[in-house]
Amino acid sequence: MYDKNNIFAKILRGEIPCDKIYEDKFALAFKDINPQAKIHVLVIPKGAYVDMNDFAANAKSDEIEGLIRALGKVADILGVSTAGYRYLVNNGRDGGQEVPHLHFHIFGGERLGRMIHK
Ligand code: 5GP
Repeated sequence: MYDKNNIFAKILRGEIPCDKIYEDKFALAFKDINPQAKIHVLVIPKGAYVDMNDFAANAKSDEIEGLIRALGKVADILGVSTAGYRYLVNNGRDGGQEVPHLHFHIFGGERLGRMIHK
């Protein structure tokens, strides 16, 4: 069940401000409030999807394409495409997902450490 009062739903409705990087019909990108790398941006679909399971099963083709294209555009806007960067999607309890609206983290701007911290 999608919680319409999650923090990213409020950002999408303009009820809470964000430091916007990019927006189009399908996606919104904004800086993470608690950055874990020199560059740390979140890219979210505009549709109400809890996580990747929900998005993969229920999003329409144009929403899926739109989100993937937005991910590439945001990397270009951030200037990390050449040096490299990392996407991360935390999914569900074991994935450590805190906000129940699908979001891709983009980390970059520096050499990133090992993939997984336990
Ligand atoms: P998760 O752990 O769900 O993958 O990541 C949630 C992310 O959302 C965290 O990195 C956290 O810092 C970020 N975050 C939580 N609340 C806000 C907010 O109100 N504004 C912004 N810009 N980021 C937020």
